[in-house]
Amino acid sequence: PVFLKGIHIQGFKSFADAVKLELGQGLSVIVGPNGSGKSNVADAVRWVLGEQSAKSLRGSKMEDVIFSGSTQRRPVGMAEVSLIFDNTTGIFPLDFREVTITRRVYRDGEGQYLINKAICRLKDIQELFMDTGAGKEGFSIIGQGRVEEILTLKSEERRSLIEEAAGITKYRSRKREALKR
Ligand code: ATP
Ligand code: MG
Repeated sequence: PVFLKGIHIQGFKSFADAVKLELGQGLSVIVGPNGSGKSNVADAVRWVLGEQSAKSLRGSKMEDVIFSGSTQRRPVGMAEVSLIFDNTTGIFPLDFREVTITRRVYRDGEGQYLINKAICRLKDIQELFMDTGAGKEGFSIIGQGRVEEILTLKSEERRSLIEEAAGITKYRSRKREALKR
């Protein structure tokens, strides 16, 4: 299975300063008072993996992910989040012991995705994960309030969620690509 070793966050939502979270093997738990940024950490992870919907990140536009200032601090110009994955087992088809996925965005809407510090397309990141079957191993985030939402989904929507979890989404997206040609 995929092992997420660390999350580096800077300028994303409530995290004005650089924060480095180290995660161990197995279960990690993030605790803290209301409004302290727990859900923002989950949002950060989904954002790096390509979340495009500002609403699903609990904002109204993508710029809302950038730290907007507080009474003590000025706003910042860029949000950047990196996920550091272990690759000692070679689960990712890359010749590195660690794989770092980064996303950054600036206030003008410009931004980048990077794999091990090299600029790439979101598609490259998505394919990297599809090939690990990370979805199959249960790499999924169920947000606050989502459980009820999933239970009330239409049958086709529920099917696509299950397909993603089962790791067959990649075959569908490849078929779609192949048919386009
Ligand atoms: P709860 O226990 O209530 O679920 P939580 O720990 O999950 O709380 P979050 O929702 O992660 O809390 O964090 C909310 C905080 O993040 C709010 O104080 C909000 O103002 C702050 N926040 C969100 N976006 C930004 C931003 N762009 N700039 C600055 N602060 C932000
Ligand atoms: Mg929360």
